[in-house]
Amino acid sequence: MICARTVFRCFKTLERWGNIVTGAAGPYFVGLAVILISSGVVCFFDVLAPTLSYPLLSIPICMLIALNMLMHYYYAITVKPGFLDEPPREAGTSLLWAKKAVTKGKQKELTGGVQWSTRGVKITPAALTKCWKCDRVRPERAHHCRICNKCVLKYDHHCPVSGINQCVGLHNERHFVLFMAYLSFASFCYCSLGYETFLDSLGITVVYGQPWPHHSPEILFSLVYILAMVMCFAVGVMFAWHMYGITSGETSVELQDHDTYRQKAKERKEEFVNSYNLGRKKNLAFFFNIGEGGYSLWTLFFPFRIQPYTDGYAWARKEGYEQHQGVRRGEELTDDEDEEEV
Ligand SMILES: [Zn+2]
Ligand SMILES: [Zn+2]
Repeated sequence: MICARTVFRCFKTLERWGNIVTGAAGPYFVGLAVILISSGVVCFFDVLAPTLSYPLLSIPICMLIALNMLMHYYYAITVKPGFLDEPPREAGTSLLWAKKAVTKGKQKELTGGVQWSTRGVKITPAALTKCWKCDRVRPERAHHCRICNKCVLKYDHHCPVSGINQCVGLHNERHFVLFMAYLSFASFCYCSLGYETFLDSLGITVVYGQPWPHHSPEILFSLVYILAMVMCFAVGVMFAWHMYGITSGETSVELQDHDTYRQKAKERKEEFVNSYNLGRKKNLAFFFNIGEGGYSLWTLFFPFRIQPYTDGYAWARKEGYEQHQGVRRGEELTDDEDEEEV
């Protein structure tokens, strides 16, 4: 994964530059992103959708993909990531909220707040530390965001440039990842279905042999096409990187921190074990909160809101581990060190 890590570092650098350039202009970038994504959707349904075979089947599928992309984007920018001072959140009752599958057997509560999930995994209360910046007690996996100036539960990163303009954490990480998945897939569809039209608009080939017959302007179609090519690659790489982190049971911050812990443990001839790593399949199931004890697999294909499996104050652990192995007390990286490194 050295190659992937290098690519990711490049993206991190780009993001940092973007951060400096955008500064307080974050909200304008949200506006720009909304205009660009909507233009893409309009161009697709105006120019490319009528050319699809089996329209009765393919057009509803395309509409569902577009709806997922737009709704997960809306959730990623409007659902707050989860801050320390908030009361616990409950699942909503509106139609936007998925209903939980009926679970076989309830969660058994054990002493000391330790629980066994119906998925056969031990969920233990998070260790508490103090944040010196906001002077509050916080559970493990929470980090202080210097842009929001608050501690965020299961902090992943602060996303300023891609139009999200807020932190990605416990409550919106699922929407953020699904938005990246749908955006890169939709861009891929746009590029692969529209290349002939794009070449025609450049005057390289002739498809229509007549003036541009669509409602959306030719120049808009071509500009969106170029943007879609960039997005398909850039967002695709970011999505792949996040999926790698999710399957390893690590957030973006932890991917970097755990590298350091691994190195330190290696110097002592020990092995670092990430106690959040339950194995690929379970990591994915817990992240998306699907499968037994969670929501249906279908919630990945419809733009529903769902609750994470935890409130951010308890974490599912690898069998036999109450905490990470190979890290000693006082060796845990603080937010300051993270900031220097990022
Ligand atoms: Zn803090
Ligand atoms: Zn933030």
